Amino acid sequence: MRLLNKVALITGAGSGIGRESALLFAKEGAQVVVCDLNQEAGQETVSMIQAADGQATFVPADVSKASDAKAMIEAAETAYGKLNILFNNAGIFHPADGSVLDTEEAVWDLTMNVNLKGVFLGCKYGIPALLRAGGGSIINTASFVAVMGAATSQVAYTASKGGVLSLTREISVEFARQNIRVNALCPGPVETPLLAELMSDPARRQRRLVHIPPGRLAQATEIAQVALFLASDESSFVNGSTFLVDGGITSAYVTAEG
Ligand code: NAD
Repeated sequence: MRLLNKVALITGAGSGIGRESALLFAKEGAQVVVCDLNQEAGQETVSMIQAADGQATFVPADVSKASDAKAMIEAAETAYGKLNILFNNAGIFHPADGSVLDTEEAVWDLTMNVNLKGVFLGCKYGIPALLRAGGGSIINTASFVAVMGAATSQVAYTASKGGVLSLTREISVEFARQNIRVNALCPGPVETPLLAELMSDPARRQRRLVHIPPGRLAQATEIAQVALFLASDESSFVNGSTFLVDGGITSAYVTAEG
């Protein structure tokens, strides 16, 4: 088992990439702290893990609130005695997030608070716990949009993910000699509820698919497998990376079908 004797906290683990990662980490021997704003969904992930004989506990948390971020880390140490892996995965994509010209300030603020401040707070309160455990691995979820722009704008989301990338780099340098690795996981489009609305429109779906070399979206399990690698000691010299898992989108000028 690749995560035996490790304690992992995953935010946004009630759905999509977070849930699949929680299931996989538990299968690989980790004790998993499932955090989510949605209590029902988070509890369901825990039930799924326990049904497969894994170990998990649910902690409700809004990652954009300092008190919740602090409490979720404390809950991990209380439940399992330490924290080795912190996966700052929770994120939102607001339906009214669009061009810089018409995106409302409230949409910008909410997106920044969850997607960027949430990662900042996770690291702020999580790093002392990792240090107490002798080091560990932090995975911050950015996105392929952190490294390239799109004509179909989602300006708050894109800017928030760019911030996650810069934040990750800086933290990865500061704590490297204290045995903490920090990487930014940058998925391409993934078949999860986050993209469901966008992808339910056949024209918008096709417009996306034409830019993806394999011609399909990723499955959440394919991203979870990479999160597992970054979480495990197998990636012991991977630090500060912009870890793209995008099916080759960022390598493509035009696709074979394009
Ligand atoms: P999802 O919508 O399926 O799951 C996100 C989870 O986060 C939900 O369970 C939700 O309740 C939770 N959440 C939302 N706000 C929260 C908050 N303030 N505090 C705690 N939990 C909160 O999304 P997903 O597709 O699995 O996305 C996971 C991460 O991957 C996000 O950071 C997202 O931006 C990123 N990402 C997704 C895609 C994609 O195409 N789906 C692509 C690149 C990056």
